[in-house]
Amino acid sequence: MGRRFNAAEYVELTMHFKCNLKCVHCMIEGTMDWLRPESTDQFERVLALNVQQRRWRGIIFTGSEITLRADLPELARKARASGFEHVRIQTHGMRLADPDYCRELVAAGVDEYFVSVTAADAETHDAITGGPGSFDRTLRGLEALDACDGVVTLTNTVITRLSYRQLPAVVERLRHLRRLAQMEFWNYWPMRETDDKDLIASHLEVLPFLRQAIARARAYGRAVETKNFPECLLGEDRDALNNDQPKLMIDEEFWPEFMRNGFHQCVHRSYCGSQRCLGLNTAYVRKFGWHADTLVPFPLERATEAALDAGHSG
Ligand code: SF4
Repeated sequence: MGRRFNAAEYVELTMHFKCNLKCVHCMIEGTMDWLRPESTDQFERVLALNVQQRRWRGIIFTGSEITLRADLPELARKARASGFEHVRIQTHGMRLADPDYCRELVAAGVDEYFVSVTAADAETHDAITGGPGSFDRTLRGLEALDACDGVVTLTNTVITRLSYRQLPAVVERLRHLRRLAQMEFWNYWPMRETDDKDLIASHLEVLPFLRQAIARARAYGRAVETKNFPECLLGEDRDALNNDQPKLMIDEEFWPEFMRNGFHQCVHRSYCGSQRCLGLNTAYVRKFGWHADTLVPFPLERATEAALDAGHSG
């Protein structure tokens, strides 16, 4: 199935490491204080590269909460002037509840908004974000964007033990949004070897809720993507799995932390033909085991099989 957005066409810059929420599933909560945002020089280098080579069609501003950067409109204007057709921000969306701010960003060239919606109701969302009133403001932000011409919105709901039962209800809660082009469901990873916060849910328990959410979102005309879920469990919805990410520019110190996840573990990995599955990660296996009898490897492509045979005989 064709993708609504192609990650290879985007470059992502972490431009700000401060946030006014405290999401319990935050990937960078332990590193936010010391990771350095991309410098102005690095930003200018990316712009210059795009002027010369048109390497990317879109730029994504991210980090923690980018709308806390006062010069965000200026960053967007510079990116547009450097040939970027799309400027996306990754945000909790609360500041977008101010229609004037929305209009300012849209006028500056921000045309794609990737907004975190952690649950389907205010009580659950606010408990996850640690911000009383955050659900209402995020929803008002999405609705304010819905009134702006020329923008598309995307949402992400991180799948945790606290949110997974609400995935179909999230789709319903956002049903009225006309500009919501894509809904994403990222299965939580803890950035360490253990699930210290007890947030990882069993894939087997998540599965029916996730598939129901995928089906409903598609019925409403949304593109859907999920990340970090075993491909073989998704059945006919396996095309929703997309672990691709844009080219990410981030402090190099981030990567040792990221590697602690230990993706690509699966007892069937060496003979599974899946090209895009991340398998399980260390914290997941420690909590729930290998699901060896439940995960079903895909057949290898013939060319891969031949290469493996050649390797064994050599
Ligand atoms: S068998 Fe393992 S590697 Fe293959 S799709 Fe399933 S989880 Fe992924």
